[in-house]
Amino acid sequence: SVNLKELLQEIILNLWAKAEQKGVKILLESEEKPVIHGDANRLKQIFLNIVDNAVKFSHENGVITLSFTMEEKFVTVTVRDQGIGISEEHLRRVKDRFFQVNPLNGGTGLGLAITQQLVELHHGSMEMESVLGEGTSVMVRLPLPEGEPPGA
Ligand code: ATP
Ligand code: MG
Repeated sequence: SVNLKELLQEIILNLWAKAEQKGVKILLESEEKPVIHGDANRLKQIFLNIVDNAVKFSHENGVITLSFTMEEKFVTVTVRDQGIGISEEHLRRVKDRFFQVNPLNGGTGLGLAITQQLVELHHGSMEMESVLGEGTSVMVRLPLPEGEPPGA
């Protein structure tokens, strides 16, 4: 079992230096302690990719918030940034392999394609919402273990 809150705290530590350079703050806004079934390293890769994007596309001194929404059978992790945002036209393509709005930002354009696959391997789903010039939210919905008390 993987404790998602601890996992996200690890991601924040991992990206701290990169965020600090831009004056970007990453906040974990949740009292929930969801525990799910899955491969810890694969789950780390999912959230490292998403939060790495949030840092990369944030403006100086931006704030990134990570939060959980609990439902009966699912937990949704939302990563919200106040960065450059993505136009509607580009948003349809960001999960395509190698697609990048601006290749000069570096990277390979594979992060979200891989992330999408890893989320599916965990029987989850990933959705993105964005407003150009205002910011982006990425929602990852993952199934909670069935028939177990929370925290088991
Ligand atoms: P890599 O992840 O391989 O280092 P990448 O970050 O460019 O490279 P993806 O993570 O797949 O690749 O993202 C694809 C493209 O989607 C990005 O290049 C960027 O144009 C856009 N994008 C992704 N996340 C965000 C975000 N939070 N804000 C603005 N644009 C984003
Ligand atoms: Mg990326």
